[in-house]
Amino acid sequence: MVLIITLNPSVDLLYFEPTFRLGVHNRFQNSTIMSAGKGINCSRALSYLGEKATSLSLVGGLSGEFFKKHLENEHFESLYIPIQAETRHSITIMHDDNVHTEIVEAGPKVYPEMKEAIFDRILQIVTEKKIEIISLNGSVNSDDEYFYNDLVYFLRKNTAPETKILADFSRNALQQIVHNATSYPDFIKPNLEEFCQLTGLPFNNKQEVLDYIKENPLPIPYTLVSCGAEGAIAQFSGQLYDVAAPTIDLVNPTGSGDATVAGAIYAFKHHLSDEEVIRFAIASGTANAMENGVGIARREIVNQLLDQVLIEKIE
Ligand code: ADP
Repeated sequence: MVLIITLNPSVDLLYFEPTFRLGVHNRFQNSTIMSAGKGINCSRALSYLGEKATSLSLVGGLSGEFFKKHLENEHFESLYIPIQAETRHSITIMHDDNVHTEIVEAGPKVYPEMKEAIFDRILQIVTEKKIEIISLNGSVNSDDEYFYNDLVYFLRKNTAPETKILADFSRNALQQIVHNATSYPDFIKPNLEEFCQLTGLPFNNKQEVLDYIKENPLPIPYTLVSCGAEGAIAQFSGQLYDVAAPTIDLVNPTGSGDATVAGAIYAFKHHLSDEEVIRFAIASGTANAMENGVGIARREIVNQLLDQVLIEKIE
């Protein structure tokens, strides 16, 4: 079984408008409203691949109720940890020929006294549902910069050694888990921007990432640096791979990273080879970019794309 954890989900409002201006009255037409967050998108993408995950999120207040209602029709199981504060809102406005403006709330704070209860609830689910794969997706709004380091350490200590732990978060949490962890996750998937944050270097393309990782291997066993339309650089089990994504007619790449993680989870779940993990991850990310929706990796499209993922071993 797979558990996907979203500690800071959101209710997302999406607008497509011809224009948007600051400092004036903007009258918008229709909004699309949805429950979102990296782990929610990932759970959805996994359900399209044919695997039913259990999703766990922190939710609170009226917007939390709304969030839960909107997940009722999804093809994954949703569990919640109730909190006092309101689940956050995010607004995305697509305007002026594909300019992407986002207004994102930081979300409810996770205070130190909530930490133990959250860890215990996660472990309870892992035990009850015989979870083999745990994915930690997205930020946590906490002043504790070791929150995720401690969670990974706690999970390693209390779960079977073969349990796979995936970590898809950014900024300080990513830096801490790569540079200061006692226990590492098995898999990380920074995108190009997150890889720049992680290293403090200004990478512009896949080749620059490859050149860097050749000289500076990462400590995480499965590291996939996704580079949008270019594909990815993978460092899996000590082997480097240059991966080209299939060429497509781009529709909407939002959530492609989450679908990439879903593809990797699918392949881990089925104990596929390292190259097949890369293939499923990239094909799922690309399939999502061919859709209007977010977190959609249609199985038949992914199957068609698998052979179009070009994987070159770097010696
Ligand atoms: P994120 O969504 O986390 O920013 P990326 O933009 O790197 O991640 O996209 C993740 C994966 O999705 C890529 O490695 C690639 O497989 C696929 N992808 C994204 N954009 C495109 C595109 N324009 N064409 C083909 N594949 C894409």
